Amino acid sequence: MKASLYLHIPFCRQKCGYCDFSSFAAPGMSPGAYCDLVRAELAGTAKRFPPTRVPTVYFGGGTPSLLPPPLIGGVLQAARENYLLDVDAEITLEANPGTVTLESLAGYRDAGVNRLSVGIQSFDDRQLAHLGRIHTADQAREALALARRAGFANVGIDLMHGLPGQSLPQWEGTLRQAVALEPEHISAYGLSVEEGTPFADLAASGDLRLPDEETAAGMFEMAALFLAAAGYEQYEISNFARPGYRSRHNQVYWRRENYLGFGAGAHSFVRHPGFGLRWENPRGLDEYADRLRETGEPVAEAVSRDDAMAEFFFLGLRMLDGVDGAEFAAEFGVTADEAFPGVIGRLAAAGLLVKEGERVSLTRQGLLLANRVLVEFVRG
Ligand code: SF4
Repeated sequence: MKASLYLHIPFCRQKCGYCDFSSFAAPGMSPGAYCDLVRAELAGTAKRFPPTRVPTVYFGGGTPSLLPPPLIGGVLQAARENYLLDVDAEITLEANPGTVTLESLAGYRDAGVNRLSVGIQSFDDRQLAHLGRIHTADQAREALALARRAGFANVGIDLMHGLPGQSLPQWEGTLRQAVALEPEHISAYGLSVEEGTPFADLAASGDLRLPDEETAAGMFEMAALFLAAAGYEQYEISNFARPGYRSRHNQVYWRRENYLGFGAGAHSFVRHPGFGLRWENPRGLDEYADRLRETGEPVAEAVSRDDAMAEFFFLGLRMLDGVDGAEFAAEFGVTADEAFPGVIGRLAAAGLLVKEGERVSLTRQGLLLANRVLVEFVRG
């Protein structure tokens, strides 16, 4: 079997106001103890899926760069001992600019990390403070410079638009400053207000002044135009890359390929048997530790044929390359038109999808309205 590995590091120095990820500022467990659990989970899961070839590894969070390099190296070592990592495996670590030094970055590099994903979000210090980020714009620029000095030739940065009080010219300024840093990859996500976060409370009380829908759509379009002009290919709704630098790991999710997740709250998916299995680890650290101690094995849920067919489009259409109808028919034994009668034709007639031969993809207008388009493939 071939599967990517996702390693969740749930520690953060402080919690950002918009964040609903599984991450904790006061976790009640040391990073060392947590990494021991992840290493044990890597070994345990490998017994269920031997021998697994691994094309990509991703340390996400949380803030993986809060962990000293020996801990990251130890987890990677456990991955190498239990799985067959490709010699050219893409090994990414998410880094927060407020946590890195030349020494720590060089340490990650020596441990085998070969791609960094740096969470910058904004170059406006007031916006960063409002978001609850622990770093300044200068620290973000410095982190990129340090990453290069440490030898990283593949660096991505994350940006956010649709921030409280943000204007189109401000977003253009963010894009300009991002491009000036010459990263290989740029992710540009719109802020979404998630239930249970401090931002949701602010929104409920009317104290979160978000850009209106038209401005938010303008920001999305501006990102696509600006980054294309700067030589970045938009290969997914929110992701842009220099030629040859797409995130290999993230494409695994959109293509519904196998991935095994480790750590608190991590998700896993394997495409067989049937139409796939998925499972999720407990989000709390104690619950995660208990689960490993008690059963060692998660309870997997079988993916239904209907869900698998919906996900094929729902996830696959996020990529600008689109999806292959012949691949769909081979996997599910029906054509896409039989599975979703009239849907593709209707969306194509509305100018939101385009069909070229067997390939179906979003149009520029479809990209703009992606959420509304993709949901058409989810049957109630
Ligand atoms: S640094 Fe990332 S994971 Fe941590 S609280 Fe902020 S957004 Fe969430």
